[in-house]
Amino acid sequence: MVSWPDDYDGAWTLGASAQRSGIGLHSGQQVCVTLQPSQRPGVWVSWPSSEGSEPLRLKPSQVRDSPLCTTLELGERRLATVEHLLAAVAGCGLTHVHLEVEGSEVPLLDGSAQGWVEAIAEAGMAPAATPASARPQLQQPIALHRGSSVITATPAEQFMLVGVIDFPQPAIGRQQCALALTPERFVAEIAPARTFGFREQVDQLRAAGLIQGGALDNALVCDGDHWLNPPLRYPDEPVRHKLLDLIGDLALVGFPRAQVLVYRGSHGLHTDLAAVLADRSDAQP
Ligand SMILES: [Zn+2]
Repeated sequence: MVSWPDDYDGAWTLGASAQRSGIGLHSGQQVCVTLQPSQRPGVWVSWPSSEGSEPLRLKPSQVRDSPLCTTLELGERRLATVEHLLAAVAGCGLTHVHLEVEGSEVPLLDGSAQGWVEAIAEAGMAPAATPASARPQLQQPIALHRGSSVITATPAEQFMLVGVIDFPQPAIGRQQCALALTPERFVAEIAPARTFGFREQVDQLRAAGLIQGGALDNALVCDGDHWLNPPLRYPDEPVRHKLLDLIGDLALVGFPRAQVLVYRGSHGLHTDLAAVLADRSDAQP
């Protein structure tokens, strides 16, 4: 049993390395990520199989909103479907980690962050030798929207999340989830929640060549008033997954001491907030 950090104030790396491989959502190819300990703060990535690949530090400014997932633009390279891996890293409290990647995307595993949490648990958590990067400070509330979708961040003692989703499909409907996040609560209540999609989309996306690797074993698929592949891991698994995505999209900027409330969120809206938080962090002395 791993003992997770109590909060997000410490500096933590891995005790050893751990690897996961699987099918990439977009390419349908086998892809592999090795998580390694690091003594430098931040999330670093390298491609050991290509010569002269220097480790790069991941930054919020590299995030691109692409259909279905979050992609990082790293010079010549792109790294797609990073959000569940980054959610697991930040959600578990890791502040220093090095990712060795084979391929141009991160394996989807079961559509949740569970596999990455298990990899982190396998490697163990160890105190890092250098301090973690500062968390974003919030003096004033932030409110952003895209159409009727809204995200707000208001100053608070700790990182608190409130998510609300509202879908016309009766199997989902209106769901809400609120929690004060800690690594332990992330692992127990958020990490296992899987991606969800809709039956109509699956055929369209497949036809467009976008989800070669997408199958009924790595996403919950909703067909109006029922799920094609029950059982759910939580009755409100979809809204928990939305919070998982939000955590992943904030991972590179750090968790603000704020209550973040998101109504009908999307990766685009989450990354809008991350960009504002990153600007405020840069403004810190
Ligand atoms: Zn997701």
